[in-house]
Amino acid sequence: MKRTRDQLRAELLTEAEEVIDELLDWHEGTEAPTLTEIEDVVLKLRKQLGERMAGTVLEDQEAVHPVPGPDCPSCGQEMHYKGMKEVTVEGRNGTMKLERAYYYCSPCRQGFFPPR
Ligand SMILES: [Zn+2]
Repeated sequence: MKRTRDQLRAELLTEAEEVIDELLDWHEGTEAPTLTEIEDVVLKLRKQLGERMAGTVLEDQEAVHPVPGPDCPSCGQEMHYKGMKEVTVEGRNGTMKLERAYYYCSPCRQGFFPPR
C-alpha cells in the first residue's frame, strides 16, 4: 500500500538519523582525524543515505501496481500480478534492493517487472 507523506517523512528521517548517529559514533571514537579521513567517512555515509533515500522513494512508487497487468511481450495476453519480489537495482546512487511488482505469463512462462 502506498504510504502517506507523513509516513514517508518519518521513514526518511529515521534513515537520516541513523546515518547521523553513525557519523557521531565515529566522531566520538576517533582522535584527531585528518580532513581526508573526515571526508572519507562523510562520503561513505552520504552514499549510504543516498541509496536509502532513493530506495524508499522508489519502493513507494512501486507500491501501486497497474491493473490490468501489462501485456505479455511474447503472446500479447494480460500478464498476472504475482506479488512483490526483491530485485537489485544499480542506480546512480549505488546499489539498491527494492521490492517490485512482478508479473507472469503462464503460457509463455515469462516473468516481467514493469519498467520505470
Ligand atoms: Zn505470454
